[in-house]
Amino acid sequence: MSDPFAVAAQLLQPFSPPPRLLMGPGPITVDPRVLRAMSAQLVGQYDPAMTQCMNDTMALYRGVFQTQNQWTMLVDGTSRAGIEAVLVSLLEPGEKVLVPIFGRFGHLLCEIAERCGAEVHRIEVEWGQVFSPEQIEQAIKQVQPKVLAVVQGDTSTTMLQPLDELGAICQRHGVLMYSDATASIGGNPFKSDEWGLDAVSVGLQKCLCGPSGSAPVTLSEQAVDTIRRRKHVEAGIRAAHHVDGSGQRIRSNYFDLGMIMDYWGDERLNHHTEATIMLYGARECARILLEEGIDNAIERHQLHGQAMAAGAIGLNLKLFGDQRHKMTNVVGVYIPEAVDGEAVRHAMLHDFGVEIGTSFGPLHGKIWRIGTMGYNARKDAVLQTLTALEAVLRLQGHDLPPNGGVAAALEVYQGAD
Ligand SMILES: *Cc1c(COP(=O)(O)O)cnc(C)c1O
Repeated sequence: MSDPFAVAAQLLQPFSPPPRLLMGPGPITVDPRVLRAMSAQLVGQYDPAMTQCMNDTMALYRGVFQTQNQWTMLVDGTSRAGIEAVLVSLLEPGEKVLVPIFGRFGHLLCEIAERCGAEVHRIEVEWGQVFSPEQIEQAIKQVQPKVLAVVQGDTSTTMLQPLDELGAICQRHGVLMYSDATASIGGNPFKSDEWGLDAVSVGLQKCLCGPSGSAPVTLSEQAVDTIRRRKHVEAGIRAAHHVDGSGQRIRSNYFDLGMIMDYWGDERLNHHTEATIMLYGARECARILLEEGIDNAIERHQLHGQAMAAGAIGLNLKLFGDQRHKMTNVVGVYIPEAVDGEAVRHAMLHDFGVEIGTSFGPLHGKIWRIGTMGYNARKDAVLQTLTALEAVLRLQGHDLPPNGGVAAALEVYQGAD
């Protein structure tokens, strides 16, 4: 009798990923230092070495976020785990949130806030644009939300929403300000305290050089007070001194930031089992950024982003969106009419091992998105991508000057020397 559950012999082979240069909007090729950090052995959840590592990671991420916030910690899960934790913890059902939408991730904030039972108010601009502070203040006056939830850098459009004036506006109107800075932090200026943010969440897989799977968050005292009012300790670990808050219990157990704070804080109250290997990775990502220096890292993203954009123009391609508000680390490039965009991505990947990004929603089929971020914000990665793109575009019949991309990028590099 044959075994009905027998698996094919090939499934018992180890997975060996092909070598790729990930030049899309994220994830990007992980810095080998992070991979090394993530191959270290586990320690127990309450081993002093582990709790020390957690405390050190909190301190490192205060540096990354540019904040003095005590409550700066990791939510286990990809970036949207951080978004979900912040929104479900801040917003009680029926409370109002205002979301300025300038791309896909604004829609995601709305989607998540709706599932939290919040009353969601949207304002929108066309993809490729950002909001003025006046537009946002106007909407705040009208809606009077509890929370303003705004993306800083939206990879779907490559745009960077200026946040520096929004914190003060929120303070004037008694609104909590939350930002998803996943795509932008580490490659674009971000100043949590100076800009007056109450909550921020990010991920590792963009400019921070890591894989997806950990979502660093930071919370101001005001955000913490709001969450503490909803305090609820789950049965089984609850002790006599635990008193519930007056607000409604947070509707997610996994993403209850109150319980996550109690786990990362002095009480070390058992919540989930920490994703130890992701903690090692996240710690190394912060170390890499702070060792390089945030300003240097931003400058590096600026330089290589400019070189890539100049290279694309040199290949007779047009850039997408309001260039004054483009993120440093990703560029949108119109797919020329006569060119099959997916065939180009296919040849880039399979003939050259270089991945570039497609796009969503209204931009689907119209632009490619090319990233220069984290570990891949490097000259050799930029020049290899442009070389491959030139060869593929030429085969597709696109009219371009010989060596146009590389020459234009090299000019940017020479100007920077
Ligand atoms: C890339 C990106 C994310 C990614 O979310 P995941 O859950 O890690 O897939 C979230 N927000 C923004 C603004 C992004 O650009």
